[in-house]
Parts: sequence; C-alpha cells; structure tokens
Amino acid sequence: MASLNGRSRLLIIGLDGATYRVLDPLFEEGALPNLKRIMDRGARGLLRSTIPVNSAAAWASFMTGKNPGKHGVFEFQVRPNPGGQRMIASSRSIHGDTLFQILSRHGLRVVAVNVPMTYPPHPVNGALVAGIPLPGSSRSWAYPESLVDELDRAVDGYVISLPWRDVLGNVKPFLEQLTVMTRKRAKATRYLMERYDPDVTTVVFVGPDRLQHCLWQLLDPNHARYQEREARQHHGAIRDYFFELDKAVGEVLAGVGEETTVLVLSDHGFQAAEKQLALNEWLAEENLLRFPRAGLWSLIEPLRQMENPLIWRLRNWWRSNARTLAPKPGIDWSRTTAYAPWGFQQGVSVNLAGREAHGIVAAGAEYDELRNRLQAKLMALRDPENGRPVVREVRFREDCFQGPFLDMAADVVLVPEEGFSVSPPPRLRSLFRSTGWACGCHERDGILLAAGKGIRQERFAPGAAIQDIAPTALHLLGLPIPDDMDGRVLDELYSPEAGFGAPEYEATSGSDGVEMQDIYTDEESRDLQDKLRGLGYLG
Ligand SMILES: [Zn+2]
Repeated sequence: MASLNGRSRLLIIGLDGATYRVLDPLFEEGALPNLKRIMDRGARGLLRSTIPVNSAAAWASFMTGKNPGKHGVFEFQVRPNPGGQRMIASSRSIHGDTLFQILSRHGLRVVAVNVPMTYPPHPVNGALVAGIPLPGSSRSWAYPESLVDELDRAVDGYVISLPWRDVLGNVKPFLEQLTVMTRKRAKATRYLMERYDPDVTTVVFVGPDRLQHCLWQLLDPNHARYQEREARQHHGAIRDYFFELDKAVGEVLAGVGEETTVLVLSDHGFQAAEKQLALNEWLAEENLLRFPRAGLWSLIEPLRQMENPLIWRLRNWWRSNARTLAPKPGIDWSRTTAYAPWGFQQGVSVNLAGREAHGIVAAGAEYDELRNRLQAKLMALRDPENGRPVVREVRFREDCFQGPFLDMAADVVLVPEEGFSVSPPPRLRSLFRSTGWACGCHERDGILLAAGKGIRQERFAPGAAIQDIAPTALHLLGLPIPDDMDGRVLDELYSPEAGFGAPEYEATSGSDGVEMQDIYTDEESRDLQDKLRGLGYLG
C-alpha cells in the first residue's frame, strides 16, 4: 500500500464484546466522539464471531486467520485428545503462527496489548503484553519481560483483568474499577507506541464485555428483568464508562499518523441472557444421559445459585480446602449416549465407542441417527413458561469446523436464541434457572469499523468474519498471506482504485505438530479456573 512516507501502518483496536445495540444509542447521544469520527470517515459493518461464541476461540481466530478446527482452541479449556484431561488454554494451545509472529518475521515492529490468549507471551519484534487467561501470581506477562516493571512504573500498577466478583451488584465501584483499568491500558499502549515506534499496534479493551455481562438488564428494555427506574438511575454512570472507553480510543488514536489504517472490532456481540438451560439435565430428561445417585454435592449445589461476594468467598474456600470432600457431579457413562462437554462449548457430544473413554454409541448409522435426533429435539425445545424457542441453530461439527482439531469439538454445536444461555455442568435442579448476575451473553454479530487511506466510506454488507481480519491486515500492509489461513481478504472495505492490488499468498509448511502442553502449575490452574468461573466461562 502506498503511503506518504512509503510505510504502511496499522492500528487495531479490539473492543471485547462491543455491539451496535449499545454503541448506536451512544453515538446518538454524542458519548463516543472518537469512535464516531472513525465510523464517519470509514467503513462500517458486522463482524461474525466463531462458533462457539466465546473470546478464547474468537481471539485465537483473529490472531491466526483460522477456524477453531485448525487452531485448536474452542474455548478457555482445551484437552489434548477427546478422552484426555482438560486444561486451561494458553497461547501454547494455539496451533500455527499468530499475526504478531508473522509480522515480526517480515521485520515489522509490533506492539500488542492484552489480546486474550497471548499468555505466556511469544517473542515478537517489539512488545507484547499478555491478556487473559493469566495466573494472578505471574510476573512474566510481557515480552520482553523487563516491560512488566517498566509498565507498572509507567502507569502506577498495570491492570490486566478485573476481580469483578468483589463488586458484583455494586454498579458504581464496578464501573470505577473498569475505568481505572481502561485508562491505564490506553496510557500503557501510548507508552509502548512511543517507545517502540511500531508498524502495527493492537490493543484490546475488555471493558464492554465485562460491563455487558453483568449490566445488560440495565441496557436492554427487552430484557425480562429490565426495570425502567433502575435503568434510568444507572444510565449516566454507564454512559460515562463508555465515554471513558472512547477517550481511551482517542488517546491511542492520537499516537498514530494520518497514514495509519485503523480497524476497530469486537470478538463477538452481545444479547440478553435471562435463563440458563442445563443441557445435561435436558439430556437426562430425554433419556440420553444418566446421572449417578445424588451425593453430597447436591446438598451444597444450591449455594452455587446465590450471588453475593460472601458466598463467592465461601465457595472459593470450599473449592480450595474441601474439594476432596465433594463428589463431582458425575455421569453414568455405561447408560449415557450423549452429554454436554465441560466448559462453555455450547454443544452436545456423543459418547462414541472407540473415541470416548467409556463410549457406547457405535460409529456409523447409530451415531448419525443420534445426531439427527439431537438436532431435531434441540430445535423443538421450548421454554415451558412461555413457549419460546431456546435454540436458534444446531449444526453438525463438520459443517462449522475443518482441520486437525475437528475431533475436539462437540459433535453437535448449537447457538442459543436471544434470552438463553446454555450450561453444561454443574448439575442443576431444574432444566432452566435464572442467569442471575450474568444477564448478558455473547451473540455472533460483533462490530467492524475501518478507516484510512483507500478505505471506503460506507456500510458494507454482512459477510465479514473474525478469521478474515489477519489476512486482511496482512494484505493492507502489502504482505503475503500464509496459504493455510481460512479467512479471506475483506476487499469490500476498500475501493479497487485504492492500489492494494490482488492478495498474494505464501506457502506454509502445514501442521506445526506442536503438542498441546499444560504450562500452568496446579496452583495457577486453580487460580485461573476460579477467574474464568467468575467471568461465567466455567460452570
Ligand atoms: Zn464475555
């Protein structure tokens, strides 16, 4: 790409969970002047997230340009093989080079700040500050490692994540903490931009995601628990947070010149979550899954459903001190044909013989018949209270994913309807329960704004996906695209006269053959599980 000084530069601003549903009214109110300026001088459209719709899979697809079947990360937990022990995902779980590694290889200078799934940091030609998941005790969250102390000094204690459970239900301190984190992030990013003079800067602000997970019912008049008085009471404070976020965007933007192309994107959108479907309970009702006899766990289970900081602390104590006393809510595998895998994967797996540790369903006709039955039953599932459909989309995994990690995906993948989230374990007492504080959850449609030289000034048609960002970024920078990327160049963003030319591709050596390795100590794993649970990512 031609630019005044012959150098193309790129700024990527990630707004985790950002959605036009929230941004558009704020644009109207004039609360987002910097983002609006980007939007007004460039292209605007939707950006589709991965299935399953979560930040681990989506940011991994953002960085690799690949679908989860190829990069191997479907959620914040991974397992080395279908029957294997699950472990918390890390940057080492992602197969293939990331955008930052590819740019570094081409000699471009990179600054990457808080992109999820970048811990432990890979070496780059520049600086990388890791994002979640990140063990609280770690002091190795930046590359080069000396940046940890440097950033702590530069912004008076750097903040990577938010211990938001302590402020649950307490809107004001929660938003104050978000604001502090956001300000420090912008300041640190500017610091790194000045220090490294990068060709490509990427920074992810996680504030919108955190805010919307627990305050969606104040934002969305269609939410079942929306109360006008309460919403009006908090409107100003929420708008102020987004104003701060916009200011942070402005601060980062001020660090680049006119020749820099700017992309603003989210890893997924957001929608209401009023009820949570207990998928395993449903499977049990359909006689596809059997639970063993209830144990001690069922006595303490009601505690899980309460939401206040004291109960959180008690639960944490229970987990760390009494875990051996609590029988895990198990599954009677000898009588189970289908189950919801752990984590946030939002799907159903078949207890397939030869693949699962205690598989009983034969491959071939029996497997096919069961998947068809599951699909039909899930699509027919209704909320008994009001007859609303619960599931929007049910797909077989090979229709969503391609690549060596296809076998790690649930056999049947589903996307819930607005209003519902889906939970595998823990075992619930009923099919549905209130989502409680987690009143908002992810939807597939996120945002993409693009501005800069040659970028069209218009809305582009739906069809862009998060895995398209890496190849598009490379092309905008005049670099070849590794031919194993699944994403395409988003040529709808720029005009044919812009001079970007036809995309060039470079051959890659194929699979890197890296083993999925667990890089965390037991203590770090426990800490991370706890954090991810707090973000609603683990049951
Ligand atoms: Zn989220």
